[in-house]
Amino acid sequence: MAMPDDTPTGIQRLITNPAVRSGYTSAVAHLLVLIGLALLWIDRSSPPRPRPIVIAFAATADAADEIGAAAAEAVMPGPPAAAPPPVAPLAKSESESPLVPEPNAAPESTVPLVPVEPVAAVVAKAAGVVARPASLTQPTPAGTATGDAIAAALARRSGLDRGAAVRDRGGSAASEAAVERGLAWLARHQAADGSWRFDLSGCQCDGGCRDAGTVSSTTAATGIALLPFLGAGHTQAAGAYRETVTRGLYYLMSRIQPTPRGGDLAEGTMYGQGVATLALAEALGMTKDEMLVRPVRDAVRFIVTAQDAYGGGWRYLPGQAGDTTVTAWQLAALKSAALAGLEVPSPTFDGVCRFLDRVETQGGAAYGYQSPQARSCTSAIGLLCRLYTGWDRAEVLDRGLAALAKPGPAAQGVYQNFYLSQALLQRDHPAWPRWNARNRDQLVARQGAIGHEAGSWFFADPETAPGGRLAHTALAVLTLEVYYRLLPIYGHAAVAGF
Ligand SMILES: [Zn+2]
Repeated sequence: MAMPDDTPTGIQRLITNPAVRSGYTSAVAHLLVLIGLALLWIDRSSPPRPRPIVIAFAATADAADEIGAAAAEAVMPGPPAAAPPPVAPLAKSESESPLVPEPNAAPESTVPLVPVEPVAAVVAKAAGVVARPASLTQPTPAGTATGDAIAAALARRSGLDRGAAVRDRGGSAASEAAVERGLAWLARHQAADGSWRFDLSGCQCDGGCRDAGTVSSTTAATGIALLPFLGAGHTQAAGAYRETVTRGLYYLMSRIQPTPRGGDLAEGTMYGQGVATLALAEALGMTKDEMLVRPVRDAVRFIVTAQDAYGGGWRYLPGQAGDTTVTAWQLAALKSAALAGLEVPSPTFDGVCRFLDRVETQGGAAYGYQSPQARSCTSAIGLLCRLYTGWDRAEVLDRGLAALAKPGPAAQGVYQNFYLSQALLQRDHPAWPRWNARNRDQLVARQGAIGHEAGSWFFADPETAPGGRLAHTALAVLTLEVYYRLLPIYGHAAVAGF
């Protein structure tokens, strides 16, 4: 697989040196010093770091103003109380940012529907785990049946098992080829310092691709770019993109700011915290690499202490009343960390349930952004969050998913489709085969094929427009990896692990 042919820096030579890699403690200490020095140099030689308050994926211009105002008066709450506060009456927040219009219903698809065998309950069966009611109190114990199931599931991200998962769950040879082209594009757009940038700066692109993003958080960009590599079985220890992943992980670790409330990876937006922590936690879960334990633990603590103590969610800044999209990333990071063996306080998960209760409508079949409104994208996110938290109201979940799947995949809604694909497959929903065939083939057909953009995606998706081509490519690849990536975070083992 083509790798970036950048001239190796001192840091890169250091991190690929087996002698150094064998001594984690001293290696990390020295690397952080070196990276810190490098960053000092970068800070002096490049424009000032972007302002910390950024427009996240679902934010609008109004929301940016709101964030700026909130930043001036943000007050960090303490950690969530052990006993959840009483649930307040639902009220529409005055500060709720307007969401984008709903995706067009029933997009006309020119993609022929391909008959697909009904998806068997492969997730649960393959994992050998029967979902049980969630207690949300226990981290996944290592060496238990659940832990073994997770390990077995991770093996499906590569090799023959991956091929079988693709075949059994609705993937295709074309979708797998698209994944490989997408990973190659992502690798070509890694910056020299190991990061990714939504504005595609610092890499070989040099204006070769259109539709650069505007979000300034390099931790969010690096995290979301790493996830597709991890999803396809590439880690810092194995796979053709070993060096790419290693450099990305070291970049993220170098950006952790120690604070009394944990390791701050946000770069101004809790999106960055959630996405970057998720990438580090996935790498930890896949490799058990001890160098990642402390960074993940610290980053998780920051998430825990940044939770809105009253409403239970997260938003751009620590302590703000939550929204569904930012909350979903924190929940995914916490689930992944717990599945990697780290402890996550149960009141934190209780808070997520409290938040979902506040934004649900139609009896829990639909979800709003900050209030109970039936919006397509946030409904897909909310339903997947319910799955993460082990909600046992299967009939309601399936009713909500059926309504979202009925019009077919949104033509431009890559973010909505990313979440809906996970939830439909997770539930082995009757709508999955038909919906997936359309979404899969739509994605394959829409992949860039010319010039520097070859292997990438960009959609007219207002939900994720600020993330630009980098975010869309990462989300598209992750969606096409759903057939084998579901675990450990997105599968029955994840649900059953709590
Ligand atoms: Zn490019």
